[in-house]
Amino acid sequence: MDKHVMAILNNCKEKMHNTIPDWEKAINAFHRIWTPERDADIQASIIELEEYMKGQEEQDKAMESRMRFVMAANEGLKPGSQKEFDCPICGGQAYASRASYNGHLHARCDNCGIVVMQ
Ligand SMILES: [Zn+2]
Repeated sequence: MDKHVMAILNNCKEKMHNTIPDWEKAINAFHRIWTPERDADIQASIIELEEYMKGQEEQDKAMESRMRFVMAANEGLKPGSQKEFDCPICGGQAYASRASYNGHLHARCDNCGIVVMQ
């Protein structure tokens, strides 16, 4: 396998060690199917994989921001009350209220546009 492919694989390895527990097996799998003729195909698959991982990372980040927003909105918010708070995502003015009858949270930030209803 050429150095370029190994470099991409190692780069993927860095990013994926949390996601693919058995990375050595994955590398071996690439090694097993690699032939000079398949090189371009395999590289394309690896790049696809890399892009997929990037997408996952972005999703994780978005999820994490959302969690932080919900936690900030929930803090000290009693049923039937409402409050203003600093949006932990953009620093803008955010609003949260909790319904008295079912305890559901409704929170939003008009600055970054996040809305949470639960
Ligand atoms: Zn915001």
